Amino acid sequence: MADETVRDADNRGANVCKNSPCTCPVEQGEKYCSVHCQSTENTIQIDCDCGHDACHGDF
Ligand SMILES: [Zn+2]
Ligand SMILES: [Zn+2]
Repeated sequence: MADETVRDADNRGANVCKNSPCTCPVEQGEKYCSVHCQSTENTIQIDCDCGHDACHGDF
């Protein structure tokens, strides 16, 4: 039961990609919308090149 609470807090109420500039929705329990975003985990991105039409992070 405690697990559920922690997971909800981590999701911040919305399932969006953890890559900062990326606005793509992700599946429940997923962190990144794409392999591209997952590869940015240890770098600071100013735009997103995931290529999804729904993404607003690509300048
Ligand atoms: Zn994106
Ligand atoms: Zn993404």
